[in-house]
Amino acid sequence: MEAPIIWFVIPCYNEEQVLPETSGLFEEHLCSLIKEGLVSSKSRICFVNDGSSDDTWDIISELAKEPLFEGISLSRNQGHQNALLAGLMEAKNHCDAAISIDCDGQDDILASRSMILSFRDGAEIVYGVRSNRDTDTRFKKMTAEAFYKLLSSLGVDVVFNHADYRLMSKKALIALSQFKEVNLFLRGLVPLIGLSSDTVEYERAPRMAGESHYPLKKMLSLAIDGITSLSTKPLHLISMTGIIASALGIIGIIWSIATALTGHSVAGWSSVICAICLLGGLQLLCLGVIGEYIGKIYLEVKERPRYLIAERTYHE
Ligand code: UDP
Ligand code: MG
Repeated sequence: MEAPIIWFVIPCYNEEQVLPETSGLFEEHLCSLIKEGLVSSKSRICFVNDGSSDDTWDIISELAKEPLFEGISLSRNQGHQNALLAGLMEAKNHCDAAISIDCDGQDDILASRSMILSFRDGAEIVYGVRSNRDTDTRFKKMTAEAFYKLLSSLGVDVVFNHADYRLMSKKALIALSQFKEVNLFLRGLVPLIGLSSDTVEYERAPRMAGESHYPLKKMLSLAIDGITSLSTKPLHLISMTGIIASALGIIGIIWSIATALTGHSVAGWSSVICAICLLGGLQLLCLGVIGEYIGKIYLEVKERPRYLIAERTYHE
């Protein structure tokens, strides 16, 4: 087999602190892969500047003067998932396989060697799976694991402890390009492609510098996106709750009429308040969930572009 052209796709948002450090690691690693004959010398490291407000794009443009680096810059900040998609869609026109990886050095770049070996053995998608979560805070560990469990109980096929470090062949990338949704949750979409897949374990290190762009609020919204864009089970649960609540309501009505008729009725203030509070709360919750889905439909029907590329360091 001829050595494949591999593109490393690396989204960057305000990463001026880490880029100078990690770009060297990426370059060193790619050079050694090329030297080993495992990948073609046409392989590239492609940074995606996700509308950074600091010097990230200047650093990328400077790096791109060297042969192994390329970069694209989005017109504004579109979020990690869209930036990743932009990079992958660019890569698909140039490479045999693309590897997506974070730019902060948290994903062990050395694991990509096993991914490439697995790709050369015929896998179309190779998932990077964290072997442990020792470097996470207890809170992040617990919420992340609960989230994966919740997703799978809602019928969403996700790879446990896999984030967005993965290899996708050109074939898988072309398949991904046919998914047109605006609400992106790549780690839920990619398993839907099917094709042959494999997993590679790696240890996730702490960030080399700078700060995480995933505070609790963004993590929650990614989680809600993940659930609502891949599963309609919450809507089904609402209908079931509605059926149970109505059944209880009918029993309550029969009971209250019966007590009134037999003359045992008392001033039932607390039971009335309880019923109102419970049902009121339930109704608002259900409306909220339905609203989430309607909001998603609204965003989808507009079919706005998921990203716009403002600049490239190479010709298309
Ligand atoms: N990122 C991005 N756009 C954003 C937020 C993050 O492209 O709006 C990139 C970021 O530069 C990094 C990756 O996504 O390469 C993961 O982000 P981060 O390390 O902040 O998240 P964490 O590892 O803490 O989950
Ligand atoms: Mg990170």
